[in-house]
Amino acid sequence: MSGDFDRSQLRRIGSLRDPAQEEPTYEEYHPDGTHAWSDDAPIAPDWFPYNRCEVWECAGCGRPFLRYTEFGGYYTDERIRELRAERVARPPHAEPPSGTAAG
Ligand SMILES: [Zn+2]
Repeated sequence: MSGDFDRSQLRRIGSLRDPAQEEPTYEEYHPDGTHAWSDDAPIAPDWFPYNRCEVWECAGCGRPFLRYTEFGGYYTDERIRELRAERVARPPHAEPPSGTAAG
């Protein structure tokens, strides 16, 4: 991620969050040992943090961005990453999203 854009130019165009999922999984998808928000990490919409991201677009250049806001007790942590089609991956879940609804 880079900071070479003006956040005030961003406008919200949608969300990756599935309204049917009350508590999206916190599992991450990193087959190549990347970390969340690594520049080369896969963007897996069904996996954390993308399953809680909103999609924003830069009004200046039209580039789409993923934006995730983490709400802690006394802080909010905002992450923004450019949405690049070649990074998007849709792997199946190796494990069920939560242990409560199995079978
Ligand atoms: Zn821009």
